[in-house]
Amino acid sequence: MRVLESRMQAIGANLERVRERITHAAERAGRRGDDILLVGVSKSVEVERIRVAVAAGLRALGENRVQEARHKIAELGRPVAWHLVGHLQTNKVRDALELFDLIHSLDRLELARECDRRARLRGRPVDVLAQVNVAGEETKGGWRPEALDAALETLAALDHVRVRGLMAIPPAVERPEDARPWFQALRKLAERHGLAELSMGMSADFEVAVEEGATMVRVGTAIFGPRPTQAPREDARASGARDG
Ligand SMILES: *Cc1c(COP(=O)(O)O)cnc(C)c1O
Repeated sequence: MRVLESRMQAIGANLERVRERITHAAERAGRRGDDILLVGVSKSVEVERIRVAVAAGLRALGENRVQEARHKIAELGRPVAWHLVGHLQTNKVRDALELFDLIHSLDRLELARECDRRARLRGRPVDVLAQVNVAGEETKGGWRPEALDAALETLAALDHVRVRGLMAIPPAVERPEDARPWFQALRKLAERHGLAELSMGMSADFEVAVEEGATMVRVGTAIFGPRPTQAPREDARASGARDG
């Protein structure tokens, strides 16, 4: 019981600390902390622990599996926004549109076309971010920077898919500072296309991402602690670091 309680308290304190760090990073860049959406990545975190974070004021949650999200949304409801941050299979699009307020991980045209088709059937457009494979890694999804122009042009023709911005999971780096060039590259791409939202930065590097213009940061471990199952396929960093 004690252990459980202190784990719960830690979540509130972690959240507070992450918020402060976002605010300070924003101020260093002449921005306001309030302009950055903190998406708490709650994949593989139990409902009771997520509830603590929501009670402490977390307003957006990120999940990477449709089934898991369905269960959690049934339990926790929608005082928060639910974002999909993981790979989406085309056969799960219908469920994803029902469950999520934003899809960060639109990573291929086939998926975009299915989103468009399903969103039209629902009679409501879907908000997405286009995922960019900033470093052109074999193991990661998303458009390579040089393919983005053409992709966005095609996406613009899908009238039930609204591209709000870009998302990236840059290569794993040793020091947060090393991620800066990737964040800068993503921001430039977004600026060039007049896209407002930039989803970049995770537990290890969200402050650098905020300094470089992130409008959404996806933070899991720094809020909820280490995930119990960091199976390579479930974890963005791990799957991106398969080059060893
Ligand atoms: C798991 C995951 C995160 C959060 O990672 P942490 O390092 O725990 O903050 C962010 N984005 C994506 C796409 C993820 O899969």
